This record gives sequence, structure tokens and C-alpha cells, in this order.
Amino acid sequence: MASKKFKTEVTDLLQLIIHSLYSNREIFLRELISNASDALDKLKYLSMVDGELKDYSFDPRIDVTFSENGEKTLTIKDNGIGMDEEDLNNNLGTIASSGTKKFLESLKDEDKKDSNLIGQFGVGFYSAFMVSSKIEVVSKKAGQAQAYKWESDGKSSYTIEPAERESQGTTIILHLNEDGAMYANRYEIETLIKKYSDHIAYPIYLEYDQTNYDYENKDEKGDPKKTVEHKIEKINSSSALWRRNKSDLKDEDYKQFYKNNYYDNEDPLFYLHTKVEGATEYTTLFYIPSKAPFDMNYADYTPGVKLYVKRVYITDDDKTLLPTYLRFVRGVIDSEDLPLNVSREILQENRVMTAIRNGSVKKLLSEFKKIAENNPELYDKFISQYNRPLKEGLYGDYANREALLELVRYHSSEKEGYVSLKQYKEGMKEGQKAIYYLAGGKESVLKSSPLIEAYRKKGYEVLLLDDDIDEIVISSVYEYDKIPLKAINKAGSLDDLKEEGEKEGEKDKQPVADKIKKALGDKVKDVVISSRLTETPACVVISDDAPSVQMQRMLRQMGNDSLPEEKPMLEINPDSPIISKIGESGDDEYVSLASSVLLDQALLQEGLMPSDPVAFAKNLTRLLER
Ligand code: ADP
Repeated sequence: MASKKFKTEVTDLLQLIIHSLYSNREIFLRELISNASDALDKLKYLSMVDGELKDYSFDPRIDVTFSENGEKTLTIKDNGIGMDEEDLNNNLGTIASSGTKKFLESLKDEDKKDSNLIGQFGVGFYSAFMVSSKIEVVSKKAGQAQAYKWESDGKSSYTIEPAERESQGTTIILHLNEDGAMYANRYEIETLIKKYSDHIAYPIYLEYDQTNYDYENKDEKGDPKKTVEHKIEKINSSSALWRRNKSDLKDEDYKQFYKNNYYDNEDPLFYLHTKVEGATEYTTLFYIPSKAPFDMNYADYTPGVKLYVKRVYITDDDKTLLPTYLRFVRGVIDSEDLPLNVSREILQENRVMTAIRNGSVKKLLSEFKKIAENNPELYDKFISQYNRPLKEGLYGDYANREALLELVRYHSSEKEGYVSLKQYKEGMKEGQKAIYYLAGGKESVLKSSPLIEAYRKKGYEVLLLDDDIDEIVISSVYEYDKIPLKAINKAGSLDDLKEEGEKEGEKDKQPVADKIKKALGDKVKDVVISSRLTETPACVVISDDAPSVQMQRMLRQMGNDSLPEEKPMLEINPDSPIISKIGESGDDEYVSLASSVLLDQALLQEGLMPSDPVAFAKNLTRLLER
């Protein structure tokens, strides 16, 4: 029997689990039962779809037994899919669980020793080593003849050897250590199963010996006669919570279900339980976590919603179930109308599934809206976590654009915190023609951008779009409630602000614009007299149809090399003393230096690096020296 070493990451994880979860070690049972339930799900699914295991007949169940005399053991047995030698190696010798892997990565990233977090990740099988000095796993994969036994003390290595097992499934035998001894106890086990695994769709049986005392009949010593009865009792109610009537459920039931199933110590922000009747019948139970799932913005985030058909688990492929922008939602969709043998592949084109998906999205978005209207405080918490995914929705989910426009929030030039587009509209001044925004860069940089000056003077609010996806998203929106959205860093944007006869005398400043343009050469597209600036000598804008300088840089970083370079336009303030000085100067060197510095500092003001920072520094020094 060959002994194999755990991958080092497993050894690390084991240590970490044992130390950090110690006070919460009872969760090991939840983890093992949840694995058993998954294994039953898998086999059930395979018995329904075409393939080698189609029509495979079995009566799914989980059995828990224990021995409290002599060496204390606890055994969890399922008749699910089982594992062959390779599976045992891959699943129990390395870290198979993607959740756990991500957890370890996140530890390295931020070097947080706050291992409390680990509870959120579904630590899985290894947690059983908190209570065991040795674990044996005997498993036989459905459809195969040979069973195997995996065994380890959880220190550094494990063994795998051929073994006997009657039919398919997995038996996990925990040899309880000192910390685990208490779990070889009927009441302890019952309590844990009820607490964590009551909803598991399959029956969980507990086998135990019950001693009965017969007080009517005495034994030879005169004590009540003792008989031992072997019992097998179903412990969980295996009623899926979402199937129960709303009126029978308490807030606490919902919260407990959430915490037990989604590895969150905190209560959800809110939840919604909906039973849809009519053409398509289905039930949904959705939860919004109070904190965004830590992997929400990773490409390989963990999906949070599971599809059941008449309580049989089908898939958690969230892309079929909800649009990706709602990937932070946790919960269950249970359909009455989908065929049980629906394959995951065809689900995407299924009409019933499409109806469920559309209905679920509508329901979620209208719930968000209700909260925004009736409970602003709760909505603030919601937005602080989920503004960004909602904005993604604005970009991708055209059908729900109207609803999403009511939900997203933006920073503003005039207020702290967030405003909605509706609030913006309500605060619009008479004669204001558009919703103005400035995108790209941090809120603080945007807020002090000279581009805003002219709008502020008129009392117009400017939305500050500081999320990196804002610009892409907003450029696809065009209007809100028939009011156009306009970027204020575009050359033509000022036309809106002009009134008859305003800023007269621009004409006679044209020579200075020409002079600066000549000095800057091909570094700018044009130099024009601006009416938007009051204090700042110059600012950069872009032509109406071009992406902003920030966006261009981002697109290039993303590998869009072919993008033609769009040069900025420099707008100059005719009233600025510096501009006047350049206009009056006959010194070519001064004009050239001052013009360059003017352009570069205008870029800096928009949070952009000058194209040649070294030259900028040199020019500035020379200018100061003069
Ligand atoms: P997770 O369940 O989060 O993937 P675990 O460490 O608990 O992580 O389990 C690792 C893998 O081992 C599971 O993904 C599954 O493939 C396999 N496994 C665990 N328990 C069982 C079981 N009772 N039956 C079949 N496979 C199992």
C-alpha cells in the first residue's frame, strides 16, 4: 500500500482549518452531509439524462451511525455517485474545492490572518480533521466494480487501496479525537443535523441503540428490566424551505436557511420568496448578501443560484438562470414545468427556462426599486455593494434598461454621497437641456476638474462617473426619461450653455490661440478660446465623437493597438493673465515653454499623466528659472 503525500497546499489548509475554525468545529457534519447530498444529486441527475447511467435505480439516502463505547467513531454513508481511485486522489489529496482555493489565494493576497473568513468558503471535507485522529473513506463509483479505501491521519500523507463496498456510494468513518468525542452521541448529532441540514432534500437517517427500562418487570437484581432496541430514525424534515408557505415561515427561518447554505455569518440584507402561478409555475427564494461576495468581480466567481425541478437539483450554472450582472444573488429557483431530465445544455434555449429567468429578473429589479423608494437607508447599503454590477446590467440588459436606470447611483459635483437620475432630473434648472456628466478618474479629481466651472456657475449639477466601467456603460445609454445625457469634456458640449451675446470679444483673442497652437504643433488637435473657464487658464477636451483620453488609454492597455490616436483639444481661458501674457510676449522660447506646461497641467487636472512627464518637469523648471 503506497503512501502519498498531500500537496503542500492541503497541509497548509489543514493547519489553518484546525486553528481557525476550532471554536466552530461542529460545522464538519454539515460539510460532510452537504457533500453526500451533492453526490446524491449527481447520481440522480445522471440517472435522468442520456448516458451510461440512464435509468440507474437507487433510493437516495444518507445514513449516520456512531459508536460511543470503546473507540468513538462517527460514520456518514451515502449511496450517491461515489469516487474511484483517481477521484479519491484528485478530490481528497489536493484542494478540489474552488471555494477553498480562492480562500487560500485571498489569504496570500492581503496576508490577512483573519481566518474567521474561512467559514464563508465551504471548507469541505478537510474540516472533519478537526474532530478526527484518522479518517477512512470507502467509496465505489456508480457503474464500476471495484471499491477503494482512502485513509489518512490528516498530517502529511494518505493511502489508497482496493476495498469492499456493496453498492455505489461513499462511507466516511471518522475516528474521533478528544475534541470530537462528544459527537459520538445521539442528541448531539440530532441537534446538528436539525440545525444545519434540515432542508437537505434526501432523508438523513440516524441509527442508534435505545435502552428501554421496564418498571413493571424487574430483573433478578430487582432493577427495572432493560431492553436495548436498535432504531433507525429519519432526522431531517427534508422539506425544502422554499416549498413551504410564506405564512408558515418566520423571518428567523429564512435567515437560518441563508446562513446554513451560503456560508455567511451575517444576516442577508434582504430576501424575497415568490411563488409564481399561471402559465409557468415556479418558486424562487432569493437572498441579497449584506456584503458583496468576495469573488463577485473575478471571472470565475462562484454561482449563487441553484435550479431545482420539483425539488431535484439540476444545475447551478448561473449564466442560464440569471444574467451575469445579478451574480451576487443567492438562492433557489424551483420549477414545476421543466422536464426532470432537462439537460443542462438545452436549458439555455428552453422556453420555460426563459420565462422563469425573465420573470425572476423583473421580480428582483422591482424589489430593488421598492426598497429604494421605501427604505433609503437599506438601499444605501445595497448600492454600496452592488452599484457596479447593476451598471453592467445597464450595458448588457437592454430589455430592463428602464428599470436599471432607476436603480443605479452616481456621485455628483454638488452633493455628497449618491444621487439617482431621477433626483438629478428633479433638480434640473430651467433651460437646462441635458444631464451632464464627467467620466474617468477618481471622484476627488473629477470634482475639482475645471471643466465643471461653467456648469457650476449656471447652477447645473454634473454627475461624476468614477467607476472604471462608467464611461463604456453611459456611452450606450444616450438618455434618461427623454433627457439626453452629455459628457462635458467634449468640444461641443458648451454649445448648450451659451446664451445670446455671451462672452463677446472672443474674436480678438483668436491670435493667442493660434500662437499657442503653433507652439504645441502636433501635440494637440486644436487650440480654441473657451467660455467655460473662470479661474483655470486651460483645459483639455476631445472632439464630440471620440472616446475620452482616459478611455483611449484604457482601450490601449486592453490591447486595442489599432485605435487611432485622438489628440486632445486645448481650450484656453481668454481672461486668464497667463494667456494674456503669452499673447503679449514676443519671446518664442517663453511662448513654447508656457504652452507646453499649460497643456500638461491641463492633462494633470483630469487625472492624466502628461505624455512625456520628464519633458514636463524640465519645462516647468526652465519656466520657473526665467
Ligand atoms: P467541495 O465539496 O467544496 O468541493 P470538499 O473538500 O468537501 O470540497 O470535497 C472535495 C470533493 O470530493 C468534492 O467536490 C467531491 O467531488 C468529492 N467528494 C467529497 N465527498 C464526497 C462524497 N460523499 N461522495 C462523492 N464525492 C465526494
